[in-house]
Amino acid sequence: MNETLIDAIKSLQLRIDASKANLENDKKIQGFIELLMENPEAWAVLYNWKNHPKPLVIVEPGDFDFFKLKPDLLSVASASHYLRDYVYSFFEQYSEVTLDNEKIKRINDFIKQARAKNFLDSKNEFLLYCSQCRKVVLTNKLEEDDKCTCGMSYDFKFSLTSISPSISQEIISGHLLELYALRIARSIEDLKLIGMEIQGEEKVVYTSIQYSDIGVGDKSNGELDLLGVKNDTIAAFECKFNETTYSDIKDFLGIADNLYYRIREKKPNLKLIKIIISYDGSKLTPSNNFFVMSIKNLISINTAIKEIKTLIH
Ligand SMILES: [Zn+2]
Repeated sequence: MNETLIDAIKSLQLRIDASKANLENDKKIQGFIELLMENPEAWAVLYNWKNHPKPLVIVEPGDFDFFKLKPDLLSVASASHYLRDYVYSFFEQYSEVTLDNEKIKRINDFIKQARAKNFLDSKNEFLLYCSQCRKVVLTNKLEEDDKCTCGMSYDFKFSLTSISPSISQEIISGHLLELYALRIARSIEDLKLIGMEIQGEEKVVYTSIQYSDIGVGDKSNGELDLLGVKNDTIAAFECKFNETTYSDIKDFLGIADNLYYRIREKKPNLKLIKIIISYDGSKLTPSNNFFVMSIKNLISINTAIKEIKTLIH
């Protein structure tokens, strides 16, 4: 490993964001990231939740036809304002997922798993639906063998969950995506990630580290979401949990360049790769200056690892 390069970068480290540092090592958040690694499609629902923070709805059994359920439920729920709200939440949570029933079923399963692992808290509020008599019933008590008045078992049960506070905070701040990028970067062979030790604790933090004298505009310091080194190459990562535009990444590009020029004084063969991990980077014009990965359309985490691996050689 290129120790002199790593030392040169470390000599510019200034501080870490203490609140983010604690969350980086939080067991619950780590577990949630783990589950998201297996189900990257669920980012679409988290993104939608960020803009419309309502309870997440789970439907059981998990084999359903979303596009048939939608008109059916909307027509029976119109009678009550509350019912309508409940049903709308269910449909709205998938508004980032277009016309793909299988994908919606997989995400429904993700939400169910997240509840089973206590990343989501259950709410005692259930909606039961009988397709025979096209009836919905709201209840806060479930019986072992709930039956509709027509004598049939209900076809579908809907339940509400809320995202636990520490995880919601991470979604809103966008830090969850940084931790996700950290997990991806960790899976890239020979990429040495550059962390910073928390003073007085034996913990190392890798995300949102401030570096001195590489700032842009009137700022002297600059923050980088994630940094790694492979041979003579620095890989700088910027994570944006939004529909990213050029103005969102302008500062990052300047900060990464400034870091590069500072270090190149000591390492003439130095190379720099700038990687943007965005929820939706489709608004960014392709450029030779940086690489963009959108997680909105990410199907498998291995694809992401492979793509970034080929960039850093
Ligand atoms: Zn019935």
